[in-house]
Amino acid sequence: APAIFTEADFYQQSFDPQAYLKEYYSMSDSREGANVFLTQNLRSLHKMFSLGGLRGGTLIDVGCGPTIYQLLSACEHFHEIIALDYTDQNRRELERWLRNEEGAFDWVPVVKYVCELEGDREKWAEKQEKVRKKVKQVLKCDVTKANPAGPVSLPPADCIVSTLCLEGACKDLPTFRSALRNIGTLVKPEGHLVLVTVLGQTYYAFNKQVFSCLRLEKHEVEAAVEAAGFEVTFSEAQPYAVSEERMDCGGVLSLVARRHPC
Ligand code: SAH
Repeated sequence: APAIFTEADFYQQSFDPQAYLKEYYSMSDSREGANVFLTQNLRSLHKMFSLGGLRGGTLIDVGCGPTIYQLLSACEHFHEIIALDYTDQNRRELERWLRNEEGAFDWVPVVKYVCELEGDREKWAEKQEKVRKKVKQVLKCDVTKANPAGPVSLPPADCIVSTLCLEGACKDLPTFRSALRNIGTLVKPEGHLVLVTVLGQTYYAFNKQVFSCLRLEKHEVEAAVEAAGFEVTFSEAQPYAVSEERMDCGGVLSLVARRHPC
């Protein structure tokens, strides 16, 4: 594990979106571990967005990185999506895909997988277009700031989703707890939070770069979500048994919570 916390500026300087995508989001049959981590998370997102009540006008994706897999199940339930991330090159990489530009990452195998979960693999092109149409803005954010999207002030959304971001962005549990309060302000009272977080992990690596990760336990995440003004309505930890060098992940927590009415 890295001896020091890799902060937002380290992401800005060192996070290579294409290398990240290749390492964690390629779906080739020869890379078994990669498939397990990704497909497990896709199934969790499918399950969570199939729960009742997760629908509405707007969805905000916090710490989107260069990825869209977290929007594939979600996009069926919301009219508009706003994606937020700290790092310029990650937002640019995402926009490249949204505009279908040359050299953009190929998400087709992942989109097909999710369509299959939803019952019709043939709908992949339609879903891909849906995501491209629904993402209206890609903006800078910092989850450690009281107004994460500042100076922009976004109208509160019906739902926020955040995958694998806070545990990388927060150096300790108090910072994690305050980040949840910060991003909680982006969602309407009675709106939802959908979270995918790794448990017991201290680092992840790709392209010979190592990023620190806040070592979290299930009860710590749940308590932080509740302290941020939410009621946890679904929480499921899945052990992650694949042993790999690229990360020391012990499990993945999938959580849905509802913000208290004011
Ligand atoms: N959601 C994507 C990306 C996760 S990688 C996925 O599921 O794969 C972690 C992301 O957190 C990176 O894109 C990084 O730019 C972002 N990040 C790091 N520090 C942040 C901060 N302080 N505020 C917002 N995003 C941050």
